[in-house]
Amino acid sequence: MIQIKTVDEIALMREAGLVVAGALRAVSAAVEVGVSTKALDDIAEGYIRSRGAAPSFLGYHGFPASICASVNEEVVHGIPSSSRRLREGDVISIDCGAIVDGFHGDAAVTVPVGEVAPEALELIRVTEESLWAGFAAAGIGGRLGDISHAIEASLRGQAAEYGIVRSYGGHGIGTEMHQEPHVLNYGRAGRGPKLVRGLALAIEPMVTLGKPDTVELDDDWTVVTADGSYAAHFEHTFTLTDDGPWVLTAQDGGAAKLAELGVSVPARG
Ligand code: MG
Ligand code: MG
Repeated sequence: MIQIKTVDEIALMREAGLVVAGALRAVSAAVEVGVSTKALDDIAEGYIRSRGAAPSFLGYHGFPASICASVNEEVVHGIPSSSRRLREGDVISIDCGAIVDGFHGDAAVTVPVGEVAPEALELIRVTEESLWAGFAAAGIGGRLGDISHAIEASLRGQAAEYGIVRSYGGHGIGTEMHQEPHVLNYGRAGRGPKLVRGLALAIEPMVTLGKPDTVELDDDWTVVTADGSYAAHFEHTFTLTDDGPWVLTAQDGGAAKLAELGVSVPARG
């Protein structure tokens, strides 16, 4: 079942989304050479609780932290650790979720640590760009496949070749962090469930510098690229309004990024 949210429920998801946005801003600002991924987790949890929200990830199927911290060849679901300290040239993906009055927000960013290789910086750029291409393609009356196709087309249209991870994807979100439908990061436009008012989705392309294949480590969480290549991961939670997509985990609702793609939506505080 695809859960459709009321206006009041979307307002709670916006509150949760702004908490996630603030937590990711605080964590991103703290990323530097020598910092441990556990220290980043502490910052996220402290921020979320200071806003009167609860971390979505902590205890989720036993996950022991408030963020996933995935470094270099780690794609998603990395477990923060006090012994994992960031090094010059690393790229770290930080995934975070928060709950306000039972409703979730979920977002992720990938951040460079100090000086990183140009191809890794470009990987970060194209992954984020593909996420926004997905939102730009989303409109009431369209189909889920429009988003999937736009993400894939954005990545296939880049100068270099990238691996689009196929084993994981986006999802519906609301009273649970993960709901139907599953959102592929590749596919055909015009297919799949209809995009309707009150639908809320987390879109999250995961992209590699090598092959798309992934392996789960023995900790039963950390997903790494099978070929050891670096990966990037960007995610936002959004809903559809009569005025276009509303990115609930972006401070401005997505207005600035969407404007770059020629999509005009109301600026939101
Ligand atoms: Mg997430
Ligand atoms: Mg997610």
